[in-house]
Amino acid sequence: MHIAHAVARHCMSKRLCLVGRIHNGPPRKGLLKYVDLAENRDGSVGGGFLTSLLRKAKNSREVREIVNEATRRFEGTPWQLLSAATHVSAGPSVDDPQLAGTLLASISPKDIPYVWEGVLRVVLGNASRHKNGAVALNAFRLLMAQNTPLTTTDYARVIHSGIDSSEEEARLVHELLQQPCPTELDPRTIGVLLKVCHVRHNLDLAGRVWQWAAPRRHVRHGDQELCYVTAQYLLLCGRAGNIVVAHQVWQEARNTGLAYLPVVTGSMLSALAMHGADGETLELLKDIPPASLNLYMVTAALTAFSHSGNVDAAHALLEQVEMHGSQTPSASIQSYTALVDGYARSEDFASALAIIDRAMCQSRVGEDDVMWMTVLGPCRRFKNIPVAQTAFAAIQRLGSPEHRASAYVLMSDIYNACGDTMGALRMQQERLRKGLMKERGAVTLTMDNGETHVFYVREIPPALVPATRAIEQKLKEWSRWLGLCGISDQSIQCQHSEKLALAYAVTQGMRQIALRKNLRICDACHEASKQITIFESISIHHWDRSRVHVMKDGKCSCHDRY
Ligand SMILES: [Zn+2]
Ligand SMILES: [Zn+2]
Repeated sequence: MHIAHAVARHCMSKRLCLVGRIHNGPPRKGLLKYVDLAENRDGSVGGGFLTSLLRKAKNSREVREIVNEATRRFEGTPWQLLSAATHVSAGPSVDDPQLAGTLLASISPKDIPYVWEGVLRVVLGNASRHKNGAVALNAFRLLMAQNTPLTTTDYARVIHSGIDSSEEEARLVHELLQQPCPTELDPRTIGVLLKVCHVRHNLDLAGRVWQWAAPRRHVRHGDQELCYVTAQYLLLCGRAGNIVVAHQVWQEARNTGLAYLPVVTGSMLSALAMHGADGETLELLKDIPPASLNLYMVTAALTAFSHSGNVDAAHALLEQVEMHGSQTPSASIQSYTALVDGYARSEDFASALAIIDRAMCQSRVGEDDVMWMTVLGPCRRFKNIPVAQTAFAAIQRLGSPEHRASAYVLMSDIYNACGDTMGALRMQQERLRKGLMKERGAVTLTMDNGETHVFYVREIPPALVPATRAIEQKLKEWSRWLGLCGISDQSIQCQHSEKLALAYAVTQGMRQIALRKNLRICDACHEASKQITIFESISIHHWDRSRVHVMKDGKCSCHDRY
C-alpha cells in the first residue's frame, strides 16, 4: 500500500514536470499573484488551492480570473470549483447574480446532484433580491430536482424574483398555498404574495393568501413586522373596491394592536378615500391625535372628503393641520389639491381658487399643473369659461407636455359645451401646431382567467376580432335600452374604449367586470355604465386615473362625484 502510494506520487510529479510551468509570463497581480507564488513554491497548483483562493474574491472579475485559470490548468473545470465559484458570486462580497447563474449553468448535469443545497439557496436568494427571475427559477428547479424539501422562503424568493411566465408564477403561488403556513413565517413572504395579487388584479387570490397566512398573523400580538403587509392588503382591498373586506382587515388590525400604526391607519384612510366614505373617515380621524397625523393620512382623508363632496369636513381638517403643522409640514401639495378638487367638483370655484392662493402662500407647497387640472375638469360640466381660461393659462405655464395637451383637449370640449364651436376648433388647431399629443385613452379588461385585453376608442383588439359582431350586437341593445331610459348613448355611438371592453366582457358571460382606464372616466360613460348594470345584472369595478367606481344596481359608489 505504502509503495503503491509512493509510485503514484512519483508518476504525478513526473507528469507535472512534463507539463512544465503553466504560467511563464511576468508576475501577475490580484489573486493570480498567489497562484504564481504557490506554483514557484510547490511546483504545481491544485484545484483545492484555487478553490480556497476563490473564497477570497471580492468582485466578479476576480472570480472569473480564478475560474479561467482553472480552465487553463485542468481539462474540464472540476464541479467543486465551479460550485464554490457560484457560491462566492452569489454571496455578499461579489453579489453578481448573473455570474452565479452562468457558473451554475456550466456545471454538468451529472454533477448537479452533488452540489450542496446551500449553494442553490444562496443563488436563489441573491437572484431574488436582484429580481433576476431566470437565475432564480433555475436554482429553484435544481433544488426541486434534488428532492430537497422546499420551504416557504424558497417559494417566496422565486416568486419575488419576477418570473417571466405568469403561468409558472401562478403555479408556484398555488403550490405554496397548498402547504401549511408556518407560524414563524417571515411576513415579507405574505407581502410578496400580495404583490403578485396586486399586479394580477386578483383580489380573490389575495383573500386566499390572507386566509393562508392566518396562523402567522395570530401568533403574536402587536407584531410590528406585520404592519406593512396589513397596510398593503388594506390598500389592495381599497383599489379592488372591496370595502367590506377592508373593514374586516381593519377590525382584525385593531384586535391585534396594529391599527394605530401610522402606515396602517393611513392605508385604511386611503381605502376609504377611494370610495369617498367620508362618514367613516370622520369616525377614524376622531381617534387620531392631530399631532400624529402625517402627510399620507391627511391627503387620504382630504381625498375621501373631496370624493364624497364633503368639502366642509375637508376644509376643517386642512385648517386644523395648518395650525398644528408649524414645525413639521403635514399638508402637502396633494392635500391642497384634494381640497381644490372637492370645491371645483361642487361648482364652488371661488373657494377652489382661494385654496390655490393659500397653497401658494405656504413656503413648502405652491401650485402645480395637477392642481389646476382639477379646476379645469369640472369647468366643462358647469360651463364656466372664465375660470377655465385661468386654469388653462396656469397649466400652459406650469405643465408637462402631456398635461398641456390634455388641457387643450379639455378647453376645446369646454368651448363646445358652451356652444362656441369656433373656439373649440381654434384650441385643436393650436394644439396640433404646437405638436402637443394627448395620451390615448386605453381601457384594460381583466378576464376571469387573469387574461387581459386593452381597448382603445373605436378599436377592438386584434385578438378579439372574431367577437366583433357579438360586441356590436350588444352595443345596439344597450343603445336601445338607454334611449328608453332617457340616457345619452353618446359613449356608445362614439365607441368609447370602456363600452367596447364592457360589451366584450358581457358577451363572454362575465358578471363582475374589472376595467382600468389610464385617464378619468367621462360623464357619458359613467351614466351609461351605471344604467347598464341594471340591464345586465352585473357589477363593474372601474378604476380611473384617480379613483375606483363600483357600479351596481344603477348606482355608483362615487355618488356621481367624479
Ligand atoms: Zn367615455
Ligand atoms: Zn362613479
